[in-house]
Amino acid sequence: MNVADSEVVAAVLRQCNYQHTEHPEEADLILVNTCSVREHAEQRVRTRLRELGKIKQKHGQVKLGVIGCMAERLKGKLLEEEPMVDLVVGPDAYRLLPDLLEEVDGGGKGINTLLSTVETYADIDPVRMDKNHVTSFISVMRGCNNHCAYCVVPSTRGRERSRDPETVIGEARTLFDQGYREVTLLGQNVNSYRWNANGEKVSFEELLGRVARIDPMLRVRFTTSHPRDLSDDLLKQMALFPNICRAIHLPVQSGSTRMLRKMKRRYTREDYMDRVEAIRTYLPDASISSDIIAGFCGETEEDHRQTLSLMEWAGFDFSFMFKYSERPDTFAATHYPDDVPEAVKTRRLNEIIGLQTRLSRESKEKAVGNILEVLVEGTSKKSEEHLFGRTSQNMVAVFPRGDHRPGDYVQVNITACTPATLIGHPVP
Ligand code: SAH
Ligand code: SF4
Repeated sequence: MNVADSEVVAAVLRQCNYQHTEHPEEADLILVNTCSVREHAEQRVRTRLRELGKIKQKHGQVKLGVIGCMAERLKGKLLEEEPMVDLVVGPDAYRLLPDLLEEVDGGGKGINTLLSTVETYADIDPVRMDKNHVTSFISVMRGCNNHCAYCVVPSTRGRERSRDPETVIGEARTLFDQGYREVTLLGQNVNSYRWNANGEKVSFEELLGRVARIDPMLRVRFTTSHPRDLSDDLLKQMALFPNICRAIHLPVQSGSTRMLRKMKRRYTREDYMDRVEAIRTYLPDASISSDIIAGFCGETEEDHRQTLSLMEWAGFDFSFMFKYSERPDTFAATHYPDDVPEAVKTRRLNEIIGLQTRLSRESKEKAVGNILEVLVEGTSKKSEEHLFGRTSQNMVAVFPRGDHRPGDYVQVNITACTPATLIGHPVP
């Protein structure tokens, strides 16, 4: 999501004649786009700000700004705590960057952290920062109306709002015309996408279908799905379009109904299992990935075992796994003690990672012996002679280059795998 936001910010700045550079040393303005989801992410930003502060000391002219969730969460406090920062801009205030930069030019500090209920940056044509020109992200909604007890996102990103479908489709079409072959539609909870204006009602299923219809050669992905809102209708819609990728990111967070209730996730272990079964029914070849939190408030060994057993049952192809990190002012921080000792959180996380490593390997092993379509994204990191790309299931595959190039669809015979990568050769 932050990549998509950075691309919007680059577009706003282009209007006032800034150009994007990868090298902080040659920049007149350095913006750090930030995440507040876990404390660790914020600590990394602070370390980075200190490094960038040194560049600023050397090149006196450069302006340093913090944008995104950390700007929103800390507001003016960030200017006090990090004196080398000139600019603090929350996720709904990017259009005001030119004015705020003028304030900095005038010798002041620029700050705006007002959240909006309507801003979607729908009319802004993002400046693409991806390296491959094959895959790109499109933000279809902003904010979140859920209240997961551990989560800072609703307070840093504001209320949920959906973007005009015409602008989403227009952006996807432009990308396709420019040679891109895959778009990922982004939202904190894409299943609750709803457009309702001038008598037109568009659901997420409808939006997905419209983007998929742009061209069969355009792959469409989306993230994230909330288990409570993933409907059979969406799965049926996906099944109708071979170019909608067979990969669903469905974060479970915990396998224990007791924990899920405390987390305010609004589904039980059984509800989640029901959704996995629905995916298996409508999209038997889909991969399922998850987010998992270890050591949430009050989590017992039994709760933890239930997480492991659910992972095993679902056979997740991939997971993002985290230790619970208490975030200030969330429901959990103000209502529950963060009482699982650090060493226990670490041990449980390691058990979760250990199990996922096995499940990931098993999911790759199942692909061996099949011919899978791979969209080429670029040259393999390990060898110039090999290309890499992804299957519809979002698995990375590597194979000898031959005459292929990024953006090609290649039928690859998968002959081997590592825990993270499929290995094969193109079908002649
Ligand atoms: N909207 C998405 C993801 C939001 S943040 C969703 O609901 O799935 C991405 C992931 O970060 C979450 O799924 C969760 O697993 C993790 N996360 C969020 N807050 C956290 C916290 N306080 N501590 C640890 N992990 C957290
Ligand atoms: Fe956070 Fe829950 Fe919203 Fe995801 S759905 S962003 S975890 S509040």
